[in-house]
Amino acid sequence: RIAMEVTEGAVTMEVPEQSGEGIEDAVFFNTEQELNRDLTVAALRAYRDREPRAETYLDATCASGIRGVRAAADGWDATLVDRDPAAVELAETNLARNDANGDVLHDDANAVLWDPEDAYDVVDLDPFGTPAPFLDATFANARDMVCVTATDTAPLCGAHFDSGVRKYGTVPRNTEYHAEMGVRVLLSAMARSAARFDVGVTPLLTHATRHYVRTYVDLTHSASAANAAVDELGHVYHCPECLWREHESGLHAARPDVCPNCDGRNLLTAGPIWLGATHDDAFLDAVRGHLDDDMGTRERAADLLDTLGDELDRPTHYDQHKLYGRWSEPAVAMDGFLAALRDAGHAASRTHYGGTTFETDASVAEIRDVAP
Ligand code: SAM
Repeated sequence: RIAMEVTEGAVTMEVPEQSGEGIEDAVFFNTEQELNRDLTVAALRAYRDREPRAETYLDATCASGIRGVRAAADGWDATLVDRDPAAVELAETNLARNDANGDVLHDDANAVLWDPEDAYDVVDLDPFGTPAPFLDATFANARDMVCVTATDTAPLCGAHFDSGVRKYGTVPRNTEYHAEMGVRVLLSAMARSAARFDVGVTPLLTHATRHYVRTYVDLTHSASAANAAVDELGHVYHCPECLWREHESGLHAARPDVCPNCDGRNLLTAGPIWLGATHDDAFLDAVRGHLDDDMGTRERAADLLDTLGDELDRPTHYDQHKLYGRWSEPAVAMDGFLAALRDAGHAASRTHYGGTTFETDASVAEIRDVAP
């Protein structure tokens, strides 16, 4: 296939032409993931400041190699893996053309990840669709940080319910905060997988952008840290009729029979999902400080980090348009809306999930009372 050149960050890569016949068989490359990759490079820098002994980076499902090559060009001792021989060849070409040091292995990611002789400080998973089949092998041996991209948003958010249950071993529910449901289902599966190996996860940075979820978790190797992560799991009860919801920590679910707000009887239970924080504010600041002018998405990435930093730490968000739709009233401008909530004594913030989404500690009835 005809190759084209793409410059991203400090590297120039050869990737397959992105349209036309045969594209399905070509080595994968998606220009839309540039934001994800720019943030990866900045997050790796921020992580190295925090954990200076971290040196080795495994791009476990590398395709063209763009992530691993960018990490290698940034000083990481990078290993790139793919089971597709065409991807391996392309990744080797790309490492060489950027004078970046690294190894490319033609292997199954799980075989590499399960090998304790080959443990890596940072492991990055970006397979097609769900990362679930790689999580146990990843947490068995990864030392410091695990980064995961999941593109199977329909199973994650409960729109493909059975698939979500199978892949993530939890109950996802399709609500109007679907991207956040996806984030919390993924983190739940990661926390439970890590706990099998007495490893605790602490989310450093997580974002749901377009059709994927991306998260970076710090690892602590102790049974007590694993217990602490499991303690962050719990359930959300949700009324699809009036959008009332409540969350409860713990692995036992005790959903009310009727919705306390509208007496509806169709309450849903989601969980166990991750109810805890999905990022660390100091880490967000550090990542922001490591964005640079080579990065094509620098401004978007900085905006995203700012929004994440302002986001209230609550497990579910509301969509103002959906609420006003329920109430058969026209929506209002977000700033005035949030100001009304705050004036009434509630905490309220925008979220990165969408332009009309917000987090608040107000109940749906309290929102209704103060909404302009
Ligand atoms: N990280 C790349 C990027 O940023 O452009 C994209 C990776 S692409 C979505 C997924 C890659 O994972 C494909 O090249 C595929 O061959 C590879 N892959 C899928 N399952 C694998 C496995 N079990 N072992 C190794 N590679 C695998």
